[in-house]
Amino acid sequence: MLNADLHCHSNVSDGILTPTALATRAKENGVDVWAMTDHDEVGGLAEARAVAKALDLPFVPGVEISITWSGQTVHIVGLQIDETNPLLVQGLAATRGGREERAREISAQLEAAGIPGAFEGALKFVGNPDLISRTHFARYIIELGLSKNLHDVFADYLGEGKPGFVPHRWATLQNAVEWIRSAGGIAVIAHPGRYKFSDLAFDAMFSEFKDLGGAAIEVTTGSHTVDQYDYYAKVANNYGFLASRGSDFHGPGESRVDLGKLPPLPSGVKPVWHDWQI
Ligand code: AMP
Ligand code: MN
Ligand code: MN
Ligand code: MN
Repeated sequence: MLNADLHCHSNVSDGILTPTALATRAKENGVDVWAMTDHDEVGGLAEARAVAKALDLPFVPGVEISITWSGQTVHIVGLQIDETNPLLVQGLAATRGGREERAREISAQLEAAGIPGAFEGALKFVGNPDLISRTHFARYIIELGLSKNLHDVFADYLGEGKPGFVPHRWATLQNAVEWIRSAGGIAVIAHPGRYKFSDLAFDAMFSEFKDLGGAAIEVTTGSHTVDQYDYYAKVANNYGFLASRGSDFHGPGESRVDLGKLPPLPSGVKPVWHDWQI
């Protein structure tokens, strides 16, 4: 099977490597088709595309959009997007616009919890000032020595219900799917196994996504356990979704799975790339 890696982050969002370094690593790791999917931002795609071309690495322009669904943050990946599409560009800009204000709220809440200066601290780790994310706060809290790794920072400080948690309150599922589809892209629900919904709520979300024209879900991702690969393969087939595969790589030493190092999709699913010319 094709070694497709259709989900990762550069330092244009909350990854560590530049688009150039990511493309180079994808090629070295044996990726056959590669998508870069920064959070709410397409500013790194031109560089990624140019380097991928020079390396003869088939490239898919992508994005990962943060939405709120039933009170929780859900991520919708767009693949094969035209990143110059005005509706997409405006939607992403509006989504990013909320981040600085949210970061100041996160910082104020952390200060109340005894961690002053977190906004400035997080900024030291930001590659793109428009895209300050909890990941940057997490790196700062680790630098302070208050947590030893990303998992612990989210468990103790930044995850839902913790002192530094401030929800996103920006785009909807309908917004994200419309932006992606109007940009000619394929909408994919990212890492469904990460969301804490009841079975009933999951069914409602998958059904709404399908009705809106959503096409795929991630089945094999660095965010899923091995059991979840098989579980979401069944979900994909039950709803008639294509199956996607992506490491969600953010950086060496930080991410569980490296670019191109995931197991293949379970048999019996239809890969999201089944009709791509590669
Ligand atoms: P934000 O978009 O600012 O809410 O930040 C979300 C980002 O934080 C995600 O894209 C992940 O990169 C990271 N993240 C969220 N939860 C965790 C976790 N439990 N462990 C490690 N990273 C996480
Ligand atoms: Mn991230
Ligand atoms: Mn995500
Ligand atoms: Mn991601």
